[in-house]
This record gives sequence, C-alpha cells and structure tokens, in this order.
Amino acid sequence: MMNFFKKSKPEKKPQAAQSIFSAGIPRESDTLPASLKAYSQFIKRVNCPQCGAPKTLPSKTAYLYCDFCGSLMDYDFRAGNAGTNAGLSNTVYHRIIATVQSQMAQARARGDQEECRRIYRHVYTQWLKECPTAVSPRANQDMDFRERFIHYTVECAVAKDFDPRQAELDARMQRLVASLQRIPTLGGAWMAAGPFWEYAALFKQQMEFAYETIHQKGVDALDPDHAPAGVPLRMEYSYFCQAWLPHLSPADGERLLKMYGLDAEYDEFKPIQTDTRKCGCCGSDILALPGARQVVCENCGFTIDVNSHPISCMKCGALLSFPVSADHFACPYCGTDNHRI
Ligand SMILES: [Zn+2]
Ligand SMILES: [Zn+2]
Ligand SMILES: [Zn+2]
Repeated sequence: MMNFFKKSKPEKKPQAAQSIFSAGIPRESDTLPASLKAYSQFIKRVNCPQCGAPKTLPSKTAYLYCDFCGSLMDYDFRAGNAGTNAGLSNTVYHRIIATVQSQMAQARARGDQEECRRIYRHVYTQWLKECPTAVSPRANQDMDFRERFIHYTVECAVAKDFDPRQAELDARMQRLVASLQRIPTLGGAWMAAGPFWEYAALFKQQMEFAYETIHQKGVDALDPDHAPAGVPLRMEYSYFCQAWLPHLSPADGERLLKMYGLDAEYDEFKPIQTDTRKCGCCGSDILALPGARQVVCENCGFTIDVNSHPISCMKCGALLSFPVSADHFACPYCGTDNHRI
C-alpha cells in the first residue's frame, strides 16, 4: 500500500518545496473539484462478498463494512476524501520514506529482504501513527489487528520491490516523472501537464503487477481485513487520484476516475428503522438493522455481536453489546469486568 511515492527522486526544481511526485496538500484557497467531495448522505452501491447484503447504512470512513455480517465490502473513494486534505496521507508517507531512502536503496541493491522489511516496518508504524484516519478504524484501537495490518502492508511492499518485472517499469516511471510539468494558475492549485496520461497508465500497470505478485506469493492471505478481490487495488488508485485530482481539470478528473474504475454509483440514503446498541468496547452508539448479526463499530473498530441480546453492566447497569469472540470485557462507562453469561 502507498507504494507509489517511494521511487521519487530528491526535488531538483529550485523554488518548489514538494516533489511533483507528491502532489501535496491543497492550500485552503484551492477549490476542490467536485469529484473529490464526499457524498455524506449517499451510499455507494455495493453488495457484501460474504453474505450478499447491500450496503445500507452510511459509513463514517472509506472502509465499508457489511451492516449485517461485519465483513469488509469495499473502499469508498469519495468517503476517503471526507473531512481530509486530499493527499495528506501521501504527503506524510512521502516525508517518512524520504528519511530512509538511502538505507532502503542500499538494502534493495544488496537484495536484503530482511533489512527492507525492518525499514518498511518502521515507516508504516510511523505513518499509521500520523494518519489514523487513512486506515481501517480497526487499526487504531485493536492492537492485534494493527500488528497484523502492519505485517501485511510490509509484506506487500517487499513482494512488490523484489518483483523483477517492476525494475523495468520503475525505470520508465522515473523518466516520465522527470518530464511531468506543473503549470501555475492564478489563485489556484498548479495544473499537471506533460505525459500525465502515460504516467497514470504506467502507475496502473505497476499496481496490477504488484497485486498479481502479492496474490501469487500468498501475501494477500495476511490481510487482517480479508479485503475482497480488487479492493486493495481500489485503495491504491484512490490514494493516487486523491493526490492528483486537485491538479487536473474537471473533465480530466472524471477521465482519471473512469480509467481507475472509481466512478461508482451512489444511492441517496433513506432513513430506515434501526436498533441503537451500545458498543461494549468503547460505549459509542452502534446502529443495527433488523437481521444484522455482527457489525464493526466505527468508533473503535471492534466487531460487535448485535444478534444476541445486550447485557447490562453488573455495576452501572448500562446495556452493552458484546464484542464478537470476547468472553468478558470492561464496561466502557464504569470499568467493571463483565462476563458473557
Ligand atoms: Zn455481509
Ligand atoms: Zn466501539
Ligand atoms: Zn458499567
């Protein structure tokens, strides 16, 4: 994940603070194109690969979890832009990776996979700390999930780096990046010019190869979210588009989203009957649809059993829903340890 900035060369252009490879954080004065705006009251049209249910409730994050079984269904590009500076997580990643670039280059040249793993582990751990909203809400409080997520991400990066097919593509990428131009505009973000489409197509090809390798090596089995096929690629494309859309015309922006298959269909959210439960881990409200078995709490990321009846805390009496597969938990309100009966 987030691999596409790592090959960037140190910036040579005199007055530009950021590399053209890192499209950077839009300034406040920049107007965001419509294609970057989140659809808060709209729901992406997608069905659960596990149980077949359609996505029904709005999601606070880009990670769309099934409202009925709690499986990861999809990554919503538009939701990924909600309340964020587009490209921020990329910029942070770029900054962190820049501090280890020479170590990384040496390790790669030696073919030292272990050392690359060690460096990536440092990079992703740091990145996760600085960009908690860029990842699944599960990675922020569930430490076991977080650990597995870092492990998976590191293995993806190493698999891609040591894929011999990538070397030639990287060389082409370097040449293309060197010929991309940024055209200043009056009072707005700079616009990308030069071989942008060739560059975007090559990035797509690199990512397709990368996930092919990741699949062949069985690395995708390490994904703690068990993302359905195609979703990790959609995440990579989303990060890429987030970084570039502010620097393209609206028509080119639409073209880019189509090219990456991110021009999804959305339905307007219609209020629907739900049961409100209290998360046994963090105490926040969870909406349960009739027939839901387990749902991911959007606040703490734990999967909560909403099929069983809530239990009342032995001390404070709060009605709480149990985390799936936990046989006891501390009440988020009073701290009392409660056991599943
Ligand atoms: Zn489901
Ligand atoms: Zn929670
Ligand atoms: Zn309590």
